[in-house]
Order: sequence, then C-alpha cells, then structure tokens
Amino acid sequence: MHPLIRAASDLVLGRDPKVRRRVSLTMIAVYGYLVSSALLAYAMDIGLVKVQEGRWLQAYIWVGMPAFYLLVRSDWSSRLGNPGMDLPQCLYAIAAILFAYAITGPVRSSVLMLIALVLVFGMFTLNARQVVIMGTATVAGLGVVMMTMVWLNPADFDPRLELIKFVLAACTLPAVSAVAFYVAQVRERLMAQHQELSHALAMLQEVATRDELTGLWNRRHMTQLIEARIQRQQREGVGFCLALIDLDHFKQINDQHGHQVGDQALRAFADGARQVLRQTDTLARWGGEEFLLMLDMPEPGIEGGLVALARIREALQAPLKTVPGLRIGFSAGLTEHPVGEPLHATLERADHALYAAKAAGRQRTEVLPAPRTASTRPQGKALAEPRQV
Ligand code: GH3
Ligand code: MG
Ligand code: MG
Repeated sequence: MHPLIRAASDLVLGRDPKVRRRVSLTMIAVYGYLVSSALLAYAMDIGLVKVQEGRWLQAYIWVGMPAFYLLVRSDWSSRLGNPGMDLPQCLYAIAAILFAYAITGPVRSSVLMLIALVLVFGMFTLNARQVVIMGTATVAGLGVVMMTMVWLNPADFDPRLELIKFVLAACTLPAVSAVAFYVAQVRERLMAQHQELSHALAMLQEVATRDELTGLWNRRHMTQLIEARIQRQQREGVGFCLALIDLDHFKQINDQHGHQVGDQALRAFADGARQVLRQTDTLARWGGEEFLLMLDMPEPGIEGGLVALARIREALQAPLKTVPGLRIGFSAGLTEHPVGEPLHATLERADHALYAAKAAGRQRTEVLPAPRTASTRPQGKALAEPRQV
C-alpha cells in the first residue's frame, strides 16, 4: 500500500485493529449520512423540502455523524461500555430516516430504503436481542410518525395510503429483521466458538512449551528460543552464553526424602532462579534435574553469566521449607556461543564444562570459553581447558 494511503487510513481508522474494525463499520453510517445530507441539500435547493425543516435534519445529521465517529475512533465508546456504539448508532439513524420521511414530501417512500442500510450495519454489529429491539423500534417509530403526520398534515398524508405503506413496512421489516437476527445469532455462535478455540489454543501452547512441574520452558521450546536467538545473533552480531546446570546429589534427595521432596526441590530451584534472573535471561528445564540457562547479552561477556549463576546460588542458600536443613546445590558449565557455531557444539562444550564442575567437587561453575575459530575448528580436536570458579 502506498505510504500516503496507509497514513491516511491510519488517521481515519486508527491503528488498533479492534478500533479499526469498529470505525470501518461506523464508516457505513458515515457514508449513508453523507449521501443523505447531499441529497437533502439538493431537495432544499429545488424546493422539495422546506428549508427550515431541512436545516433541522441537516443539524441532526451533522451532530450525530461526527459525534459517533469521534466516540468510536477515540475509543471513548469503550469507556461508555459500548465500544462500537452499535445499537445507539442504529436507533439514531432510524430516527433520522423517520424524520426525513416526515419532511421529504413526494420522495418520502424512497427514504424508507435507507432502513436497509441500517439493517446491514446492524447485521454486522448487533447481537440477536438488539436486532429485535431495533426491528420493533423501527416499526413502532414508523407507525407513530405516520399517525402524527396524518393528524398534522392530512392534505399531504392520505391516511389510506399511509395505512398501505405501514402494513407493507410492518410485514417486510420483521422478515428482513429475522434475517439480521439469524446472522447475528450465527455471529454470536462463531464468536463463542472462536473464544473457546483461542482458549484451547492458549492451553495447548502452554502444554507444548512449559514444563508442568516447574513452569519453566521445556526442552523443545527452549531449543526454538535458542535457534531464534542464533538468528538474531547472525543479524545483529551480539553473542550470548549458555549454562548447563545440574542439581548435585539429587538422587540422594529422592532416596532419602522421597520423590515428592525431590519434586519440591526442582520447583524450589526454578522459583529461586526466576526471582534473581533478569527478564532477558531464559531458563528451561532441559531434562530430569538438568536446566539450561541462556543469558542474553551478558555484561561484560561471560562474566555476566558467572554473576547470574552466583546470584542463583545465593538464592538457594535458604533450606527447603518442608525439609529443614536440606539445601539445593548445583554444578554448572558455562560457555558462550560464537557466531556460526552449530548449537550442538555449544551444548557439548557446556556439558564438558559441567562435567568438569562435577569432577572438581560439585557446587561450582566451570567456564569453557569458545575457541576463537569455532566455526572452523576441526572435529574431534581437544576442547580448551575449563576455567573453574
Ligand atoms: P550428580 O551430583 O552427579 O548430578 O548426582 P545426581 O544424583 O544428581 O545425578 P543422577 O543422574 O544420578 O540422578 C538424577 C536423579 O534425578 C535420578 C532421577 O530419578 C531424578 N529425577 C529425574 N527427574 C525427576 C523428577 O521429575 N522428579 C524427581 N523427584 N526426581 C527426578
Ligand atoms: Mg543429571
Ligand atoms: Mg545431578
């Protein structure tokens, strides 16, 4: 789309997709009002409509049309509890049509065609109950206007002709309203189904991406997050670190206190880590009692990773609430991911570092920096010596 057209459409309809949709529907009404206003001006000009009466109707149109547009466009309508101002817009338009019917002399029957436009607007915006209200209000309003005009101006409003027109309208409008009612019902059903589906999709997404026990990302989703991070790294050139974390002597916790306490320890680790990590850090349960931490742009370099892991260690100082004296310890292998290195190679290095941390006595972090020419490193060549912290 041309940028100028895009800018104009943003200005008229707004950027928020919901507001855009509502304003677009309001534009159906604006279109009807503009055409009617122009025709009314012409009718006044050629003497078909009395100027005094025509001006009242013009005033009515030019107060209502911008007022509804601005209410919906600014989303003030939401604060009034009616985001689309649907029923008020329909009733306002019907009142305008009935007003026009009273003052447009010989062309008044044609004016009634505009009711179809309001019904189309209603079909897309009103719920089934509101369609009934609008249909009833239209027929009743038409009856009242016809009777009033027959009474006030019997010379122009022949009661017999008005009766025929009223019976015709009273028989046709409910039929058209019934179609609108049906469409509104289908829309309501679709909306309910859409909500149910969105809810189910959100639940599925939760199940597919989260680890049930700890609420952390699961392995599958973490892999996707890292892959996405690697792509960002290729675009922006900013590296990141990975730390493989494994709880120490976890089997003992299970054996001595039971599987349930083991589960509590896993949860306590996740909660403790979550509390001290930054929003940009990503932690996942990688499997069993193993976790993977991705540190987004740690400052400065790998040192940021060490600080984050030290903070987690500190957060786990407090013993488990349910088992006094039981503290959770972990070993970690930290490494960075250089541009161009396959993910499995980085994970392998983190695993080597973790293994070194375990071998060195646990409850510590080992760092294995990435070789300088990671992408060209020949397969099987020895990794750098781990740095112990
Ligand atoms: P190390 O310090 O060398 O890591 O020793 P460890 O005992 O932690 O390691 P090991 O791999 O021998 O034991 C891991 C245990 O974690 C074995 C497994 O039963 C337990 N485990 C894995 N997943 C869960 C889980 O979801 N809940 C509980 N309670 N235990 C789990
Ligand atoms: Mg393990
Ligand atoms: Mg372990």
